[in-house]
Amino acid sequence: MKIAVIGSGMVGQTIASKLHALGHELSMGTRDVIETGKRTNKNQMTGQSFVDWKTANPEIELMNFKDIQINDLYVNATNGGASIEALNSIGKEKMKGKIILDIANPLDFSKGMPPSLSVCNTDSLAEQIQNAFPESHVVKSLNTMNCFIMMNPSIVPGEHNVFMSGNNDEAKKHVSNLLKEIGWIDSMIIDLGDITTARGTEMLLPIWLRLWGVIGNPNFNFHIAKK
Ligand code: NAP
Repeated sequence: MKIAVIGSGMVGQTIASKLHALGHELSMGTRDVIETGKRTNKNQMTGQSFVDWKTANPEIELMNFKDIQINDLYVNATNGGASIEALNSIGKEKMKGKIILDIANPLDFSKGMPPSLSVCNTDSLAEQIQNAFPESHVVKSLNTMNCFIMMNPSIVPGEHNVFMSGNNDEAKKHVSNLLKEIGWIDSMIIDLGDITTARGTEMLLPIWLRLWGVIGNPNFNFHIAKK
């Protein structure tokens, strides 16, 4: 598939590297290619800067949001508060009929830690994106775990789950196939239904953040145990 990862942070980098390694054609979107291309500050989790990442991934082209081409799938890996602005910068026309895999969380850090949700209960970021891009197919998935587990579920032993929400069954099938390429197996993928079900997975973030504090590292995931 031709895939654009929208977002140059740790999550965008992790997703882009993995999907490229799986053989997909990748590009990455950012606000300012020149500024982003100079970033040498090291990420605390990876110990790697953007420059380090780009050196290791020379084939993934970094583009300004507006220069991103028509792709089969766009991964929204931007800050939740800026997602709609970032996606708008690409241009609605290019994303018409295409899949937007939304992994972002609407976390508001403006009042310190722990962050609050900027949208919840009766709405979600995924629904806001679907409303802003009615001719694209938004699928919310992977947002309920750390990005290293997203791209390598075997970090957590045994079965654990990834959720999926979206209005278009065909788009969810494509995302499900992509998840399986990454290493998720059928029984680990839970299709919750339409895009409104993303309210629930986005609202898992407050408990995820508290678990991170208690466990002391982000190498855990939700597992729905069933009879
Ligand atoms: P982040 O700092 O949350 O977001 C970085 C991206 O957002 C960058 O591409 C940045 O653009 C863009 N951005 C920020 N402000 C913007 C603005 N005003 N207008 C347009 N674009 C803007 O980075 P992250 O830690 O990699 O996380 C990405 C997303 O994944 C977040 O929504 C996060 O909640 C979600 N998530 C993270 C994890 C995890 O493991 N950390 C797990 C699940 C979900 P530039 O490229 O121009 O800087």
